[in-house]
Amino acid sequence: MQRDTFDRPMRDLRISVTDRCSFRCVYCMPRELYDDHEYLARSEILTYDEIVRFARIAVGLGVEKIRLTGGEPLLRKQIEVLVAGLAAIDGLEDLAMTTNGHLLAKRAEALAEAGLGRVTVSLDGIDDEVVRAMIDTDVSVDVVLEAIDTADAAGLGPIKINTVVRRGWNESQIVPLVEHFRGTGHTVRFIEYMDVGTTNAWKSDEVIASAEILRLLSERWEMVPVDPAYAGEVASRYRMVDGSGEVGFISSVTEPFCGECSRLRLAADGHVFTCLFASAGTDVKAVMRSGASDDDIAGLLRAVWEKREDRYSELRGAVPIEFPRVEMSYIGG
Ligand code: SAM
Ligand code: SF4
Ligand code: SF4
Repeated sequence: MQRDTFDRPMRDLRISVTDRCSFRCVYCMPRELYDDHEYLARSEILTYDEIVRFARIAVGLGVEKIRLTGGEPLLRKQIEVLVAGLAAIDGLEDLAMTTNGHLLAKRAEALAEAGLGRVTVSLDGIDDEVVRAMIDTDVSVDVVLEAIDTADAAGLGPIKINTVVRRGWNESQIVPLVEHFRGTGHTVRFIEYMDVGTTNAWKSDEVIASAEILRLLSERWEMVPVDPAYAGEVASRYRMVDGSGEVGFISSVTEPFCGECSRLRLAADGHVFTCLFASAGTDVKAVMRSGASDDDIAGLLRAVWEKREDRYSELRGAVPIEFPRVEMSYIGG
């Protein structure tokens, strides 16, 4: 397994398959900037064959888990073809997808048949009005809830529900979300609002710390911590003592986990990044398209990982920020 300068292994690969999305979440793709955005051209985007080739090489270097993301991954045509290609890679242990759920209900069965193991569905509340304000798109919560049920029935569960909490926007939804999903086997994971990219005009006072959310939930349910399921698990988990389920917290701002970060990220245009907060990546697509062998590409990835020294979240506020920084919708969350 490849190790970086802090001895962190390259274990996970996140693949952003498109920079486009059907939603305009205010904290990710604000409508005023993204309706008119210059998206990647088709020729700039990696083909499915290129992505599978890259993934196979990464698995050869120690990657065990792959997550498809975006943008909205279900906007890529026939993504089941990509899923099947990835699922066939020898040595890959886990293949998952993060989606906004908008188009999932119709596709869940085909995705499961193609070999997808799990889905994570993003949902920032249960109340339509609150969610519509967050996603800035006319899609009702029922569409996403139905997708969650369908995905579960197709074998893609239990499902993780990703909820970004932004002060002044959706803190009213914290208890109702847990209330809705307790007893279903699905787990709500509260994500601290992060300063990824620059277009969301992030402000630190809009972050609601996980500790505050846990306090709020503990007023309602008795909660006890759960041991990590594996080394490097980024979510800390709590279980409700009444047996009705678990809640997860991804506390990238208040309790950074860079020391355990084993993620390599491949953007839709074939640039690789070693941190969500990077300002520059390495153009692997150009190398692939110039006729490089698998060994050449493996050598490039090894070199990128060996010199990796990212720990942005641990240094947040202590070092000047480099601009421009990549956007979440491009690099994949
Ligand atoms: N479109 C898909 C979705 O929303 O699930 C996949 C891509 S999205 C960029 C992946 C995850 O990043 C989502 O769960 C989203 O809520 C989260 N996200 C986006 N911007 C964020 C931010 N500024 N802080 C924290 N999480 C963010
Ligand atoms: Fe789209 Fe996901 Fe970003 Fe929302 S969080 S705008 S659904 S990419
Ligand atoms: Fe990983 Fe960078 Fe996030 Fe730290 S800030 S956990 S290195 S992606």
